[in-house]
Amino acid sequence: MTIYEFPFATGKVTIDYEKCKDCENYACVKACSLFGRAILRVEDGKPVLISEGAKKRCIEDLACELYCQAYGNKALNITLDMFGLEEYRRNQTALKPKE
Ligand code: SF4
Repeated sequence: MTIYEFPFATGKVTIDYEKCKDCENYACVKACSLFGRAILRVEDGKPVLISEGAKKRCIEDLACELYCQAYGNKALNITLDMFGLEEYRRNQTALKPKE
């Protein structure tokens, strides 16, 4: 298992690259470009930070995780100690989870 991790101000992003191998859409990168600050890019078929310093620009919008869970291969998870976060994740009805 190859894990890619990077911290941001109050949490951590963890990506299981084994699951990214079959990903067809890089939803995490697209979501970060649409809703975040475009700190992710694709390199050798895997999502990575655009630079080491980019993690400081993360706005903690959770878009990469939500889109990976809904449209990717459920490889990306965010660790964030925030009250109500689990309930928020459960209530994300706007996105249709991948079957
Ligand atoms: S959307 Fe998920 S599975 Fe696809 S490249 Fe991004 S982290 Fe990997």
